[in-house]
Amino acid sequence: MEDLNPFNIARRQLDKAAEIMNLEKGAYEILKEPMETIIVNIPVKMHDGSIKVFQGFRVHYNTARGPGKGGIRYHPQESLDTVKALAAWMTWKTSLADLPLGGAKGGIICDPKSMTNEELETLSRGYIRAIRSFIGPKIDIPAPDVYTNPQIMAWMYDEYSKLVGYNEPAVITGKPVEANGSEGRYDSTALGGMYILEESAKLIGINLKGAKVAIQGFGNAGSFAFKLATSLGAKVVAVSDSKGGIYNEEGLDFEKLNETKSQKGSVVDYEKGEKITNEQLLESDVDVLIPAALENQITTENADKIKAKLVLELANGPTTPEADEILFEKGVLTMPDFLVNSGGVIVSYFEWVQNLSGTHWSEEEVYNKLKEVMLRSYKSMIDTQNTYKEKGIKITPRTAAYIVAVDRVAKAMKARGWY
Ligand code: GLU
Repeated sequence: MEDLNPFNIARRQLDKAAEIMNLEKGAYEILKEPMETIIVNIPVKMHDGSIKVFQGFRVHYNTARGPGKGGIRYHPQESLDTVKALAAWMTWKTSLADLPLGGAKGGIICDPKSMTNEELETLSRGYIRAIRSFIGPKIDIPAPDVYTNPQIMAWMYDEYSKLVGYNEPAVITGKPVEANGSEGRYDSTALGGMYILEESAKLIGINLKGAKVAIQGFGNAGSFAFKLATSLGAKVVAVSDSKGGIYNEEGLDFEKLNETKSQKGSVVDYEKGEKITNEQLLESDVDVLIPAALENQITTENADKIKAKLVLELANGPTTPEADEILFEKGVLTMPDFLVNSGGVIVSYFEWVQNLSGTHWSEEEVYNKLKEVMLRSYKSMIDTQNTYKEKGIKITPRTAAYIVAVDRVAKAMKARGWY
């Protein structure tokens, strides 16, 4: 049986890169575990008067290149191992993008869909009080992720500012623009992914005009990806959310889907299409598959049934290492998560820089800088893959991206005398 524990998966990916790049033992010993972890229990008075205690986590994976950076997830299946894996991936993500930041992540075990706004606010403020000394503009800067959003970031920013006694916007990113957030942050994950879509489609000769696309997930990343892929001329034929999916060979209409989702709570109620399961979505006959939901979606169970030529990982950790190999052998190009979805943290970095310097950049400036960083990261990954190819070693784009990222973190640790 394939081991689907996300932290073990992150470790297997690191092990593979470490072996190929001949990573020094000292660096490996530090990088195989997070530096620090905090577990907190947050009491919340619920709307019926009862008290419920929620467990939350924050993990600093590595801060050799700068303060920790990474989102906070609200999910019923959250676990310490998931957060540790995501914190490791954040370390590689900020390093590949060459940002002066480390990697961190947070999560709370809760079901936000069944909570009132007041309960969510109390929980979010309680979490910040609990992790107060673990975060800060020079320590660790959280951001949104699965089921968290700009409103939640605004509450957290406010709570932290009240605790320290002054406005401290640089403690958290992904805030609303009207509360010291950056222009362009909300759609930056999907927008960054689209630059990689364009580059990788070129690489393997997919013409995006009329190309068929399936997107798993209709949250922040998935819904913006839908809109942007359509604007590139692609035809989104399948989309799904946690309740299931919808398929129409002629293409789906974004506005109508959005309306259906906000009125009925799910894309499955969209009228002009055939209902499909999330499994069927992954195996649909498309040119490009965009997983934009959760981890462990492409595994040894379904990897050989994937028909797409290109898998663009907008979610964190959607493909297991074993499935990655199967796709590679089959000739499917998989663009790795910590490159594809790095647009979010890149604009988070811009937001942090603006907050620290008391400035506000235009949307155009943000987008131009985002594109520059995304293309630079992509190039460093492809160049590394080619360097190994010239030596007769065939590696996946993911392993190439790992080699770039791990090498930078190792060099920072070495220079600082950590090993
Ligand atoms: N949660 C996003 C990610 O996984 C963004 C993190 C950030 O902006 O710090 O990359």
